[in-house]
Amino acid sequence: MRTVLFHGPSGSGKDTQVDLICEKFGFTKIGTGEAMRKLYEEGDPDAVRAHDDYAVKGIFVESELIYKIAAKYITRFDQNSDWAFVSLVRKADQIPMFDELLKNCNRTLDKFIHFTLSEEEAVLRRSLRWYCPTCQATYHEQFKPEKVKGVCDKDGTKLTQRDDDSKETTLSLLREYNKDIEPILAEYRNRGVLAEIDASPSIEEIHAEVVKQLGY
Ligand SMILES: [Zn+2]
Repeated sequence: MRTVLFHGPSGSGKDTQVDLICEKFGFTKIGTGEAMRKLYEEGDPDAVRAHDDYAVKGIFVESELIYKIAAKYITRFDQNSDWAFVSLVRKADQIPMFDELLKNCNRTLDKFIHFTLSEEEAVLRRSLRWYCPTCQATYHEQFKPEKVKGVCDKDGTKLTQRDDDSKETTLSLLREYNKDIEPILAEYRNRGVLAEIDASPSIEEIHAEVVKQLGY
């Protein structure tokens, strides 16, 4: 029964890596976004409150409420399987809440895997992403290029880039993320469970490093 927490900035390929681990080793992926979505659909009063009072107003859901929802959500999974939590500790005040959550299901955190992304790499990755303003199809210069350079495969519209893919936005988002995550990383480094993995190599190389860190 392994318990692993994954974190990484947007563009670090974190979700791809967690999906690979789930596919190959049968981990259950647990994230707060999905928890809130599922419980909201089921009409859970806390999830409805998180949606109506925070999410739709563009306000960050307060930590107590997130963890109340997460505590309910995790009861539906096999309690003896390996769990991969994704981005559950976004602020330092959530560390004791995450501890409590684990304690209540008789788990201890085996590993905190953090994907680090340099500013140069983050900017480069974002600059490779394009989308079609007509049908919203997305393209990637390296992984999913369009057939005819610069135009949408489906409707021939000229491709463009999202505002939040601009260099300044990418950098400011990454710096904000790093500022929030640093004290959290320091705590788990202290506890001896932190593994920091460079997110710049290929998906396969990063996966091999994750597998090594998990002790397989
Ligand atoms: Zn299109």
